[in-house]
Amino acid sequence: MQAEIISVGTELLLGQIVDTNAAYLSQILSGLGIDVFHRTTVGDNEDRIAQSVKDALSRADIAITIGGLGPTQDDLTKETVAKTLGVELLFDEEAAERISDFFAMRKLPMVESNLKQAVKPASGRTVPNPVGTAPGAIFEKDGKCVICLPGPPVELIPMVTESVVPYLKEKLGPAAMIIKSKVLRTTGIGESLMEEKVKDLLQSKNPTLAPLAKTGEAHLRITAKAADEKTAGALIDGIETKVRERLGAFIYGVDDETLEHVIIRALIVRGLTIGLAESCTGGLISDRLTDTPGSSAAFLAGVISYSNESKVELLGVSEELLKKYGAVNGPVAEAMAEGARKAARSHIGIGVTGIAGPGGGTKEKPVGLVYIALSQGKDADSEAEKTYSQEFRFSGDRRYIKQRASQAALNMLRNELL
Ligand code: AMP
Ligand code: MG
Repeated sequence: MQAEIISVGTELLLGQIVDTNAAYLSQILSGLGIDVFHRTTVGDNEDRIAQSVKDALSRADIAITIGGLGPTQDDLTKETVAKTLGVELLFDEEAAERISDFFAMRKLPMVESNLKQAVKPASGRTVPNPVGTAPGAIFEKDGKCVICLPGPPVELIPMVTESVVPYLKEKLGPAAMIIKSKVLRTTGIGESLMEEKVKDLLQSKNPTLAPLAKTGEAHLRITAKAADEKTAGALIDGIETKVRERLGAFIYGVDDETLEHVIIRALIVRGLTIGLAESCTGGLISDRLTDTPGSSAAFLAGVISYSNESKVELLGVSEELLKKYGAVNGPVAEAMAEGARKAARSHIGIGVTGIAGPGGGTKEKPVGLVYIALSQGKDADSEAEKTYSQEFRFSGDRRYIKQRASQAALNMLRNELL
């Protein structure tokens, strides 16, 4: 079964409001296994609304309109749909009563135009509105249907869950399908290389596999359509196994799991603690790690060290080292990591130093050059057993470089914990 969504409202076209209702409806429809191949946005204009409805019904079985059910002049949707389909609108006694009660209860004056909303299609049904005054409507004609819903999300959402979903399920009958998705999250591999490795699997029709690029990460979404949960799950498992064989440890988590969440969990499981020394990331890594509830069991302290003096005083980086190499290089990152470990009295220390730009870059040390070091010891008070650093070159603006650097640092840590 196919459905299309038509969002009605000039304010949508002007960019004054964002079409959250259409996104919500798309999710609901996909969850029911109903395909949505087109979505339209149209202004408050009778001719164009009519054309959109005709176009949608020429392709799909169901058209769902959003908005334009209010009492004012520019609210034309129901009348226009009725005219387009040639379905009469009847006065809806019950709805009229509810609207009168609505105003009476709030001691608000009711004007004639409020009753304009109290109409129902001659063939089809009313969609009750438990929150506002404008009832929705379902028009049925020649095996197809148009569902009209109001714009305010507080009204639309309960109407969808209470009336539209049951209606659609009834319509789907035994053909009802469910759609199940799972996201595999990778980091440390570029989107194009990831895609290359699973290229043939991207052709699969059920389940489908779709790449999604994120900052410093590349995700793969698996979506399966089946008659029941179990069959959909088995379809997902099948392709997931193949993807995991090819991407291995690049996959760090699934669905909503963040990289920082996975790391905190791994640290806690291994009984390890961490301290940070951040220069160019300005605390971003600490911020990300502490977004995870329970992070205090593993995250002990973070030092944001911007000036050379603070690197000496707070982290114990030697003045000679800074004089000899400057602040952005591997040995300084390593000294910062060791300093972080000592300052936090943790098992692991991470040091990050780099040039986030836009100024401050030179030919030898361009903007985006970042060194990340990791130092690890048996316990907080013993000398480091290993310390190493890695050089990265990122491009982009200041914020993006900070994000990429935080991502690389977290991924280095993850690889160490694997
Ligand atoms: P309407 O039913 O077109 O008069 O819309 C009433 C109000 O609902 C608008 O002023 C918006 O605040 C909200 N609204 C309308 N359409 C949408 C939409 N597609 N997504 C989110 N909010 C909407
Ligand atoms: Mg409107």
